[in-house]
Amino acid sequence: MSLEELYQEVILDHYKNPRGKSAVACPHAACSLFNPLCGDQVDVSLSLGADLCEQCSEKDHCPLRVADVGFIGHGCSISQAAASMMSDLCRGKSIEEVRELCDLFRQFMRGEKGAEEVTALGDAVALEGVRKFSARVKCAMLAWEAMEKCLDQIGSSDTITIAGSGKAVVGGTAA
Ligand SMILES: [Zn+2]
Repeated sequence: MSLEELYQEVILDHYKNPRGKSAVACPHAACSLFNPLCGDQVDVSLSLGADLCEQCSEKDHCPLRVADVGFIGHGCSISQAAASMMSDLCRGKSIEEVRELCDLFRQFMRGEKGAEEVTALGDAVALEGVRKFSARVKCAMLAWEAMEKCLDQIGSSDTITIAGSGKAVVGGTAA
């Protein structure tokens, strides 16, 4: 099997068996994006949390994490597979790590980074072939752009608190 065929299999697997294809209950951020060029729709939602460490007497000592991420949507196989890969990859990562992954994926799609430089993207490396088709890059970027907009929503909220359970509460009081 050639690398191209292997990548095709990975994309098809994510398309047919999407990871995290459901809306997150009680999301802290959500964003719907539509790609008019192809008709793709991706709605990304996420909830935040923090794994409070044992020394953590300060509630904001540990970095805020994307505790759960999910998506719903429809469209071409590239857009939906990319959403599945993105959800899979970002779940459990810190907000900073997720931002770095978003930047990395964009650089990868622009051809600024080769596949060997973006192993941190996991299965999303399989989207390498998409770069040859500029119209399809939009499809692949859609879920990642929605994720970035979710992070922007969080960034503009200065009222995030972490409850004792490690669950984040945005715009309210930690229970
Ligand atoms: Zn598409």
